[in-house]
Amino acid sequence: MPPVFRFAPSPNGHLHLGHAYSALLNADRAQQTGGRLLLRIEDIDATRCRPEFETAIYEDLAWLGIGWETPVRRQSEHLSDYRAALENLSALGLVYPAFESRAEIARLVAAREADGPWPRDPDGAPLYPGDARSLSAGERDRLVASGAPYALRLDMAAACRRASGLSWHELGEGPESEHGTVPARPESWGDVVLARKETPTSYHLSVVVDDALQGASEVVRGQDLFHATSVHRLLQALLGLPEPAYRHHALIRDGEGRKLSKSSRSTGLRELRAAGTSPAGIRRLLGLG
Ligand code: GLU
Repeated sequence: MPPVFRFAPSPNGHLHLGHAYSALLNADRAQQTGGRLLLRIEDIDATRCRPEFETAIYEDLAWLGIGWETPVRRQSEHLSDYRAALENLSALGLVYPAFESRAEIARLVAAREADGPWPRDPDGAPLYPGDARSLSAGERDRLVASGAPYALRLDMAAACRRASGLSWHELGEGPESEHGTVPARPESWGDVVLARKETPTSYHLSVVVDDALQGASEVVRGQDLFHATSVHRLLQALLGLPEPAYRHHALIRDGEGRKLSKSSRSTGLRELRAAGTSPAGIRRLLGLG
């Protein structure tokens, strides 16, 4: 079976050099290995994703000389797949609704911090304090019936008891040069959000479901997602999904060493193209020869 690669941008802005690097690494790996390259549009966040950005993604990738298989998988068209995975996790007793707003969570964390530092996740955000985990079934039902908004969270401690000792095969490297067999540490993320009242999935859940459904065998993506792989391995184990290899690549940074964002205009592919840079010039800028 040929290896399967995927590039999975979110259409919430225009692509920049960092996306070009990721897309070209995927395309080059697919070419070197006789593999397939799939494109996935991660458009779950309806408030930020726009059709014109999706069109621009196709144009920019084609301009770079990248070809992909069709049909393209658009996450917004597959909500029932994520709902089914969520139900499987719920049936294992690993999912609970949490009703606090972001501001309430910040207050709960601040109250805990009065007694000393509160743990942070690998992205630096405080862990969810877990207060909703202890609501009674009756209280949960009453709050859901009242129409209150909620997030569905993974009971991380219970999930880790079910699937412990996980690791992944890292072909690239993480921020601390981790390579080879990397131990997964999903507990460092606390009770992650898997879905919300109005949205039956989160990034973590849909990426794991889609990588499995699309048969991704080597996930090539930026180092900013290195630590998220711990959560992905846990969800794969809980859902009985196959395990791809991972190749996390260095991030392209701006002149001040900051990670590129979709609003940093000087590194946008459209701006570079308008200024006369060719696709070969983009490759040279990225050190891809
Ligand atoms: N959609 C994610 C992003 O644009 C990438 C997801 C992935 O490659 O796993 O950052």
